[in-house]
Amino acid sequence: MRLFFGGNWKMNKTTAEARTYLDTFLGPLSSYDADIVLFCPYMILPAASQKAKGTPLSLGAQNLYPKPSGAYTGEISPAMVKEFATYVLLGHSERRIYLGETDSFINEKVRVALREDLKVVLCVGETAKERKEGKSSAVVRKQLRACLKDIPGNNLNSIIIAYEPVWAISTFPGAKPAQPADAEEMHALIKGWFTKQYGKETRVIYGGSVKPDNCEELIVHQHIDGFLPGGASLDPESFLRIINRSLEARKRAKKP
Ligand code: PEP
Repeated sequence: MRLFFGGNWKMNKTTAEARTYLDTFLGPLSSYDADIVLFCPYMILPAASQKAKGTPLSLGAQNLYPKPSGAYTGEISPAMVKEFATYVLLGHSERRIYLGETDSFINEKVRVALREDLKVVLCVGETAKERKEGKSSAVVRKQLRACLKDIPGNNLNSIIIAYEPVWAISTFPGAKPAQPADAEEMHALIKGWFTKQYGKETRVIYGGSVKPDNCEELIVHQHIDGFLPGGASLDPESFLRIINRSLEARKRAKKP
């Protein structure tokens, strides 16, 4: 499957900082055969989309509200996202944990986003406690089932799953990256779930303390189709190294 690299900037960077970042980041992108997306704060999207015009970079929002318009102070509608972005990140664990987002609310957002022709990167992943208790597979299957409830299979080209174990996300205390074999096992499980549910797979990318130094050992695994780095995407050189090293490692591994 075609590799996908999404940078999750979270609540970082001003528009001026984003412009400087893109001055470095955009140049090398045309030599990479992969989907490359920056999930920027909303405020940056207009300027970033102007700079990215005519380049291989796609942009994504980090959230949306599942209503077309109305009295939802502080929220952003799918149509507003669509003016500047083609992707939206949904179900990120920081939103689940800090803002109390539930699977059913995330499902509403997925439905609305797809209806508006946005591409969705849906995050799933277990906590450290759930992993310790041997519940990782059950938790992730439940998240998939609930977040994708009533989503028909003809949408699969617009859905990417990000497996992001909460215990691996660098900003949570005690985080450490997943062992490649553990990540691969969960990716295979997610792809198996899709095959059973829809008769076909979708891309599954990994997120959780991905860095230039550990991307190669992860990407050589069969079911890992790319990455969603957070911290390491904030520096353009570091994100470019992840993309470059992953593509080279995959070529060497001769994955289909
Ligand atoms: C993320 O928040 O999506 C993420 C994976 O962050 P980090 O790469 O910093 O662990």
